Amino acid sequence: MLNTISQILQKETLTRTDFITLLSVRSAEATQLVLDKAYQVKTETVGRKVYLRGLIELTNICAKNCFYCGIRAANIKVERYSLSVEEVLQAADFAWKNGFGSLVIQTGEQQSRAFADMIEDLLIMIHDTTNHELSVTLSCGEQELSVYERWRKAGAGRFLLRIETSNRDLYHKIHPNDNFHSFESRIKALNDLRIAGFQVGTGVMIGLPEQSIGDLADDLIFFKTMDIDMIGMGPFIEHADTPLYAKNHMLWPAHERFRMSLLMLALARITMPDINIASSTALETLDPLGRQKGLLAGANVVMPNLTPVSSRKKYQLYNNKPHLDKDAALSAASLQKIIHDIGEVIGFNEAGSSLHFKNRVGSV
Ligand code: SAH
Ligand code: SF4
Repeated sequence: MLNTISQILQKETLTRTDFITLLSVRSAEATQLVLDKAYQVKTETVGRKVYLRGLIELTNICAKNCFYCGIRAANIKVERYSLSVEEVLQAADFAWKNGFGSLVIQTGEQQSRAFADMIEDLLIMIHDTTNHELSVTLSCGEQELSVYERWRKAGAGRFLLRIETSNRDLYHKIHPNDNFHSFESRIKALNDLRIAGFQVGTGVMIGLPEQSIGDLADDLIFFKTMDIDMIGMGPFIEHADTPLYAKNHMLWPAHERFRMSLLMLALARITMPDINIASSTALETLDPLGRQKGLLAGANVVMPNLTPVSSRKKYQLYNNKPHLDKDAALSAASLQKIIHDIGEVIGFNEAGSSLHFKNRVGSV
């Protein structure tokens, strides 16, 4: 078996069957072979440098009702919040002064005019107060092309919108069956982001109830076909106050979801060597060394949480979210240590744009 795995890993291009074989490895040795290959590809392509994105969870107000997510509109147990302009600018200032190079602004999904204006105004203020030295990624859900274009113009350079799963049927099993949660509009939004000129990131949840190894192989093919610039993906983690919790008995054990997530990161790196890949916080929820292990499996981006501690616990997409009680400085310091411990360096003060995007458009 180890020989077969090594042979597949030497191939120039991996097929769906190859992905399925590699995602089906069970032993620790075979898993490690795949992860090591990904680390080698990462080292040769994007190097051993980690880019920091300070994460600001701007608001947990969300109009959607995704079955898996703790802050879905119908969860009345959630106390809703929006950070003040001052809180956002303080977090941006922290990121800027600490050399993070970039920010991610993440929100629940709202499609109102007021929301579009608010994000646009914030982008302008962030750039003005940080000497235009912070690059900003948005993760604010599906919007009209015109809204994406406004935000791009106001200075956001990247956008993360996960497809969640590339299997249309499974997508509809984890979302309400209405026009507001359609697979087609998700794909359209991803295409619109590209038209608007963003570095486009997508990703999936790994270990969803009823998700197969074939689905995960198709997810990798989807990323490649969509020619995406960045990936943010991680394990599915249950939340007790969501409808998907009813299928909890179908889940792979947490350690399996974790291992499969590392394999998915590794295969994404092997098959798309020059993209940016985030080592997600959800990995850390399932394993205390999750983020390091993600970096060693091919990821090159981490997103320390800069949301004020008082709001952080109100933004729980899944149960057992880590770092609920740490302030930004502590999280940043602990992150620096774990990155140095594995022999990597932080790209301080660097935008850390996707090399794939640079190759695709010629420059940034
Ligand atoms: N509202 C925006 C951004 C916030 S949600 C959006 O949906 O795009 C960001 C991501 O959190 C989602 O794309 C989803 O993949 C992830 N997420 C939500 N609930 C989760 C859960 N229970 N386990 C793991 N990831 C989850
Ligand atoms: Fe809202 Fe995003 Fe959660 Fe869906 S995943 S309910 S859009 S915050």
